[in-house]
Amino acid sequence: MRTKIVAGNWKLNNTKEESKKLVKALKKGLKLSKLKNTRVIVAPTFVNLSASLKSAKKSKIEVAAQNMHQAKNGAFTGEVSADMLQSIGINTVILGHSERRTYFNETDTALAEKVSAVLEHQMETIFCFGELLEDRKSNNHFSVVEAQLKNALFHLKSSDWKSIILAYEPVWAIGTGETATAEQAQEMHAFIRGLIANKYTADVADDVSILYGGSVKPTNAEEIFSKPDVDGGLIGGAALNASDFIAIIKAI
Ligand code: PEP
Repeated sequence: MRTKIVAGNWKLNNTKEESKKLVKALKKGLKLSKLKNTRVIVAPTFVNLSASLKSAKKSKIEVAAQNMHQAKNGAFTGEVSADMLQSIGINTVILGHSERRTYFNETDTALAEKVSAVLEHQMETIFCFGELLEDRKSNNHFSVVEAQLKNALFHLKSSDWKSIILAYEPVWAIGTGETATAEQAQEMHAFIRGLIANKYTADVADDVSILYGGSVKPTNAEEIFSKPDVDGGLIGGAALNASDFIAIIKAI
């Protein structure tokens, strides 16, 4: 059975104290909830990973990084490596977020290298991808998504896929308040699962968790999560508010 996952991407938000406070509020809010087969992950900025991990101790809340460099070490000022993340207890990293692709020019080639680095370290990734508004308007959304997956992930072996969580995030729905309909999400998720089944096997495709991301809120989470190929969500804005994030987790 696929694991359900709700992950919060905190982006460039929260000081150390705010991060600790948010984790503690989530911990308290989730204390009595029975979340069978559901993972809850938060992704603070690098400098707040350790403090968030400490606050999340003895809870279901896991902590992930928002990015990682592909090199082991070297002259890459301002970057963070897999070894560095592992050395502080981080084993999950978001890669390929549209903001990284847009503002920091992350290419599919660089992302393929980052994914390989994650796997070499026996870490896991929440791998983000999704089409722009013009791709959808021109009916190219399926081919854009297919290319993103092929270029960054289809060099992997079947066994590598146990370390991959996919996050389909149509760029036009991120932080815009505009959500894909549950039907649009389901249609794309089923397409993605089909691509993986064709390239690998039906079992590999069946086992990979595919999250939806893009303006998920307490008011629309249940409908989106009710779709058979939607295994949870990657949440931006609503993950910064404990009661909203808890409501979204409870909708799964
Ligand atoms: C995101 O940044 O991954 C995201 C989905 O943001 P939001 O929920 O704010 O649209």
